[in-house]
Amino acid sequence: MEYGVPYPKQPWEGVCKYCGKTFDTARGRSDRLFCNERCKNAYHNSVRNREDTEEYKRVQKILIKNRKILLRFNKYPERAALNRTLFVSAGFNFDYYTHQRDFKKDGNPYFFCYDYGYRILSEAKIKVVRAFDHHSDQP
Ligand SMILES: [Zn+2]
Repeated sequence: MEYGVPYPKQPWEGVCKYCGKTFDTARGRSDRLFCNERCKNAYHNSVRNREDTEEYKRVQKILIKNRKILLRFNKYPERAALNRTLFVSAGFNFDYYTHQRDFKKDGNPYFFCYDYGYRILSEAKIKVVRAFDHHSDQP
């Protein structure tokens, strides 16, 4: 029997979950889903790659939103000490940032979302900054 022959499939035929070709179920385990190891590995790699991509997208979406909020707040005249509630109501996610920098030995670090960052001044106040340049991130 040739590959790609129309159905009904034969009782001994399995259809590979990856490439769609039929294979002989009498060979190997009768409940196998793939025509060979290569298709099995390729299928699992594609599932893993898809999961990776979804995770990258999920985190990137949060970071982009955070950056947009920082960019907007950076234009506020009072950006040197903004209320934390402003961030919360804008949907800022404090759990995600791209990197962290310590510019002041005794102060709290700056957290950046790409080129925009913030520093927690107190429980209620946050200072927004833009990185001076992309190499040092110095605000
Ligand atoms: Zn296959």
